[in-house]
Amino acid sequence: MVPPLRLFIALPPPTSVLTQLERVGHMLHRQCGGRRVRTDLLHVTLAFLGDTPIERLNELISVFNMLQHASIFALQLDCYGIWRRSGIGWCAPQYIPPPLIELHQRINQGLTGLGLPTETRPFKPHITLLRKALHAPNTEMTDAIIWQVDRFALMASELQADGPHYSSLAEWPLLSAGR
Ligand code: ATP
Ligand code: MG
Repeated sequence: MVPPLRLFIALPPPTSVLTQLERVGHMLHRQCGGRRVRTDLLHVTLAFLGDTPIERLNELISVFNMLQHASIFALQLDCYGIWRRSGIGWCAPQYIPPPLIELHQRINQGLTGLGLPTETRPFKPHITLLRKALHAPNTEMTDAIIWQVDRFALMASELQADGPHYSSLAEWPLLSAGR
Protein backbone atom coordinates (compact mmCIF):
# COMPACT_ATOMS: atom_id res chain seq x y z
CA MET A 1 0.00 0.00 0.00
CA VAL A 2 1.21 3.50 -0.80
CA PRO A 3 1.71 5.44 2.45
CA PRO A 4 -0.37 8.62 2.86
CA LEU A 5 1.14 12.02 2.17
CA ARG A 6 1.47 14.51 5.01
CA LEU A 7 0.13 17.64 3.33
CA PHE A 8 -0.21 21.32 4.13
CA ILE A 9 -0.94 24.52 2.23
CA ALA A 10 1.62 27.26 2.64
CA LEU A 11 3.08 30.51 1.44
CA PRO A 12 6.67 29.73 0.36
CA PRO A 13 8.90 32.80 0.78
CA PRO A 14 11.08 33.93 -2.14
CA THR A 15 14.86 33.71 -1.68
CA SER A 16 15.25 37.39 -0.76
CA VAL A 17 12.76 36.99 2.10
CA LEU A 18 14.40 33.73 3.21
CA THR A 19 17.75 35.53 3.45
CA GLN A 20 16.22 38.20 5.68
CA LEU A 21 14.36 35.62 7.77
CA GLU A 22 17.62 33.77 8.29
CA ARG A 23 19.05 36.92 9.88
CA VAL A 24 15.99 37.38 12.08
CA GLY A 25 16.20 33.71 13.09
CA HIS A 26 19.79 34.24 14.16
CA MET A 27 18.85 37.31 16.25
CA LEU A 28 15.92 35.53 17.86
CA HIS A 29 17.92 32.43 18.62
CA ARG A 30 20.56 34.48 20.46
CA GLN A 31 17.83 35.87 22.71
CA CYS A 32 15.50 32.91 23.09
CA GLY A 33 17.65 29.80 22.78
CA GLY A 34 16.06 26.63 21.44
CA ARG A 35 16.70 25.12 18.04
CA ARG A 36 16.57 27.01 14.73
CA VAL A 37 14.37 25.82 11.90
CA ARG A 38 16.37 25.22 8.73
CA THR A 39 16.03 28.03 6.21
CA ASP A 40 14.67 25.72 3.50
CA LEU A 41 11.74 24.85 5.79
CA LEU A 42 10.56 28.40 6.51
CA HIS A 43 6.98 29.13 5.42
CA VAL A 44 3.59 30.46 6.51
CA THR A 45 1.07 27.65 6.99
CA LEU A 46 -2.40 28.42 5.62
CA ALA A 47 -3.94 25.01 6.28
CA PHE A 48 -2.72 21.69 7.63
CA LEU A 49 -4.23 18.61 6.00
CA GLY A 50 -2.08 15.97 7.64
CA ASP A 51 -2.05 12.39 6.38
CA THR A 52 -3.96 12.24 3.12
CA PRO A 53 -4.37 9.20 0.87
CA ILE A 54 -2.51 9.72 -2.39
CA GLU A 55 -5.79 9.00 -4.25
CA ARG A 56 -7.17 12.33 -3.03
CA LEU A 57 -4.38 14.38 -4.58
CA ASN A 58 -6.11 14.97 -7.92
CA GLU A 59 -9.33 16.25 -6.43
CA LEU A 60 -7.39 18.47 -4.04
CA ILE A 61 -5.46 19.99 -6.91
CA SER A 62 -8.70 20.50 -8.91
CA VAL A 63 -10.30 22.35 -6.02
CA PHE A 64 -7.40 24.78 -5.85
CA ASN A 65 -7.35 25.13 -9.64
CA MET A 66 -10.97 26.27 -9.45
CA LEU A 67 -10.57 28.49 -6.40
CA GLN A 68 -11.41 32.10 -7.10
CA HIS A 69 -7.94 33.43 -6.59
CA ALA A 70 -7.12 36.23 -4.19
CA SER A 71 -4.90 39.14 -5.22
CA ILE A 72 -1.19 39.58 -4.73
CA PHE A 73 -0.51 41.39 -1.45
CA ALA A 74 2.35 42.80 0.56
CA LEU A 75 3.03 41.14 3.88
CA GLN A 76 5.03 43.18 6.35
CA LEU A 77 6.81 40.88 8.81
CA ASP A 78 7.48 43.28 11.63
CA CYS A 79 7.35 41.47 14.97
CA TYR A 80 8.75 38.40 16.62
CA GLY A 81 8.20 36.52 19.85
CA ILE A 82 7.74 33.09 21.35
CA TRP A 83 4.73 31.04 22.39
CA ARG A 84 5.72 29.54 25.70
CA ARG A 85 3.33 26.61 25.64
CA SER A 86 4.55 25.26 22.29
CA GLY A 87 8.11 26.61 22.57
CA ILE A 88 7.78 28.14 19.11
CA GLY A 89 9.81 31.24 18.24
CA TRP A 90 8.05 33.12 15.43
CA CYS A 91 8.15 36.11 13.13
CA ALA A 92 4.81 37.55 12.02
CA PRO A 93 2.96 40.52 10.57
CA GLN A 94 1.22 42.79 13.09
CA TYR A 95 -1.28 43.73 10.40
CA ILE A 96 -2.98 40.96 8.45
CA PRO A 97 -3.86 42.23 4.97
CA PRO A 98 -7.46 41.50 3.86
CA PRO A 99 -6.33 39.47 0.79
CA LEU A 100 -4.54 37.07 3.14
CA ILE A 101 -7.68 36.62 5.23
CA GLU A 102 -9.63 36.06 2.03
CA LEU A 103 -7.13 33.52 0.69
CA HIS A 104 -7.18 31.62 3.98
CA GLN A 105 -11.00 31.58 3.96
CA ARG A 106 -11.21 30.38 0.35
CA ILE A 107 -8.73 27.59 0.98
CA ASN A 108 -10.73 26.46 3.99
CA GLN A 109 -13.95 26.58 1.97
CA GLY A 110 -12.28 24.42 -0.68
CA LEU A 111 -11.18 21.88 1.94
CA THR A 112 -14.62 21.85 3.58
CA GLY A 113 -16.15 21.21 0.14
CA LEU A 114 -14.04 18.05 -0.04
CA GLY A 115 -15.22 16.99 3.39
CA LEU A 116 -11.81 17.66 4.95
CA PRO A 117 -11.59 19.13 8.44
CA THR A 118 -10.25 22.67 8.91
CA GLU A 119 -8.56 24.43 11.81
CA THR A 120 -11.03 25.98 14.24
CA ARG A 121 -8.51 28.11 16.12
CA PRO A 122 -8.16 31.74 14.97
CA PHE A 123 -5.78 32.21 12.05
CA LYS A 124 -2.42 33.56 13.28
CA PRO A 125 -0.15 33.70 10.24
CA HIS A 126 3.47 33.31 11.28
CA ILE A 127 6.79 31.80 10.32
CA THR A 128 8.22 29.36 12.82
CA LEU A 129 11.90 30.24 13.29
CA LEU A 130 12.66 28.31 16.50
CA ARG A 131 11.55 25.16 18.25
CA LYS A 132 11.88 24.64 22.00
CA ALA A 133 12.50 28.36 22.56
CA LEU A 134 13.31 29.01 26.23
CA HIS A 135 13.10 32.77 26.83
CA ALA A 136 11.03 35.63 25.45
CA PRO A 137 13.10 38.04 23.34
CA ASN A 138 14.26 41.19 25.13
CA THR A 139 14.33 43.41 22.04
CA GLU A 140 11.76 44.24 19.40
CA MET A 141 12.21 43.52 15.73
CA THR A 142 13.83 46.55 14.12
CA ASP A 143 13.79 46.21 10.33
CA ALA A 144 10.54 44.90 8.91
CA ILE A 145 10.68 42.39 6.07
CA ILE A 146 8.40 43.25 3.16
CA TRP A 147 7.24 40.20 1.24
CA GLN A 148 5.24 40.50 -1.97
CA VAL A 149 3.15 37.36 -1.71
CA ASP A 150 2.28 36.17 -5.20
CA ARG A 151 1.54 32.44 -4.84
CA PHE A 152 0.59 29.63 -2.50
CA ALA A 153 1.59 25.99 -2.60
CA LEU A 154 0.48 22.50 -1.72
CA MET A 155 3.35 21.03 0.24
CA ALA A 156 4.22 17.49 1.32
CA SER A 157 6.27 16.96 4.45
CA GLU A 158 8.37 13.87 4.99
CA LEU A 159 10.28 13.04 8.14
CA GLN A 160 13.74 11.71 7.30
CA ALA A 161 16.65 10.74 9.51
CA ASP A 162 18.02 14.30 9.46
CA GLY A 163 14.64 15.96 10.11
CA PRO A 164 11.63 17.02 8.06
CA HIS A 165 11.87 17.71 4.33
CA TYR A 166 9.24 19.59 2.34
CA SER A 167 8.42 19.40 -1.33
CA SER A 168 6.07 21.59 -3.29
CA LEU A 169 3.55 19.40 -5.17
CA ALA A 170 1.68 22.24 -6.87
CA GLU A 171 1.64 26.04 -6.81
CA TRP A 172 -1.03 28.60 -7.68
CA PRO A 173 -0.34 32.22 -8.58
CA LEU A 174 -2.28 35.06 -6.96
CA LEU A 175 -3.81 37.64 -9.28
CA SER A 176 -1.84 40.77 -10.06
CA ALA A 177 -3.64 44.09 -9.59
CA GLY A 178 -6.03 44.99 -12.39
CA ARG A 179 -6.66 41.41 -13.53
P1 ATP B 1 8.18 17.79 12.36
O1 ATP B 1 6.80 17.88 12.97
O2 ATP B 1 8.38 16.53 11.58
O3 ATP B 1 9.29 18.13 13.27
P2 ATP B 1 7.36 20.09 10.81
O4 ATP B 1 6.53 20.57 11.96
O5 ATP B 1 8.25 21.02 10.10
O6 ATP B 1 8.28 18.90 11.21
P3 ATP B 1 4.91 19.01 9.86
O7 ATP B 1 4.61 18.55 11.25
O8 ATP B 1 4.63 18.10 8.73
O9 ATP B 1 6.42 19.45 9.71
O10 ATP B 1 4.11 20.35 9.67
C1 ATP B 1 4.03 21.07 8.46
C2 ATP B 1 3.38 22.41 8.77
O11 ATP B 1 2.05 22.20 9.27
C3 ATP B 1 4.09 23.21 9.86
O12 ATP B 1 3.89 24.58 9.56
C4 ATP B 1 3.33 22.86 11.11
O13 ATP B 1 3.41 23.90 12.07
C5 ATP B 1 1.92 22.72 10.60
N1 ATP B 1 1.19 21.75 11.41
C6 ATP B 1 1.61 20.53 11.80
N2 ATP B 1 0.70 19.89 12.53
C7 ATP B 1 -0.37 20.73 12.62
C8 ATP B 1 -1.64 20.65 13.23
N3 ATP B 1 -2.04 19.59 13.90
N4 ATP B 1 -2.47 21.72 13.11
C9 ATP B 1 -2.10 22.81 12.43
N5 ATP B 1 -0.91 22.94 11.82
C10 ATP B 1 -0.05 21.93 11.91
MG1 MG C 1 5.25 19.32 13.17
